[in-house]
Amino acid sequence: MAKKIKQIAIYGKGGIGKSTTTSNISAALSVAGYKVMQFGCDPKSDSTNTLRGGEYIPTVLDTLRDKQIVRAHDVIFEGFNGIYCVEAGGPAPGVGCAGRGIITSVSLLKQQKVFEELDLDYVIYDVLGDVVCGGFAVPVREGIAEHVFTVTSADFMALYAANNLFKGIHKYSTEGGALLGGVIANSINAPYAKEIVDDFVARTHTQVMEYVPRSVSVTQAELQGKTTIEADPDSKQAQIYKSLAQKIVDHTESKVPVPLETSELREWASNWGKQLVELETGVLSPAAAGNL
Ligand code: ADP
Ligand code: MG
Repeated sequence: MAKKIKQIAIYGKGGIGKSTTTSNISAALSVAGYKVMQFGCDPKSDSTNTLRGGEYIPTVLDTLRDKQIVRAHDVIFEGFNGIYCVEAGGPAPGVGCAGRGIITSVSLLKQQKVFEELDLDYVIYDVLGDVVCGGFAVPVREGIAEHVFTVTSADFMALYAANNLFKGIHKYSTEGGALLGGVIANSINAPYAKEIVDDFVARTHTQVMEYVPRSVSVTQAELQGKTTIEADPDSKQAQIYKSLAQKIVDHTESKVPVPLETSELREWASNWGKQLVELETGVLSPAAAGNL
């Protein structure tokens, strides 16, 4: 019997660190001996750059525009440690639906039975956004990915995007859609940032998979076109990405999150805002603020 391929989607707001985190997870899984494909589903098409020495690869949509017949192998490129890299791509700026690239690309590879042929253990989709567009919901809606994780910082807009994703997962959960594995908290350096994310996951009945600090080792690696796992494998940051990857390996049961209503989220944020002002002025200690 063919082995089961674990398919994971990583969502989050633009610029929050999805591709950085996804590429480090892919790299860590690959170093641990798994066969991995990273599937970029962001019209920015730079998901796999740090797996490829900083190089951009031709996208599926661009290749489809240039050629009549596209073989899956025309759009799959090998990166660090043999990781298979694919970029779905997007429409010409300002034209068409950005989600179409995801639908088209996933179908192309599925039709040609590429995942089985490459004997993959993991396919990781790096997906932009907060499921406001139907196309971006594809990996969730169609059950393409089994487990969804979201990258967020403690910033309101990032949490807002995560909450919208939870709404999407919630909506499709009754129709066989993917469920939520947990939250990857990125750029968590201040104690209050951790507490904000902890409070958010508690209220939405989810969990934090890992707290990833903002680190200059990530910047240095990115400037060399590499993941931290490749450029600085013995660093503390690399250990954190390895620990995150292991938790993803061990993770088996995802759940339906409980999204907050927009007004609830607003009120929650505003309460945190007041607490942060009090922290700043020394009225509260971080621990006390977390217990409010
Ligand atoms: P996204 O894919 O969500 O649009 P990226 O992964 O491209 O975001 O990250 C945006 C920028 O933030 C990149 O320059 C990246 O190096 C940086 N970055 C992300 N996470 C970290 C981190 N933990 N430490 C330092 N820099 C980070
Ligand atoms: Mg990205």
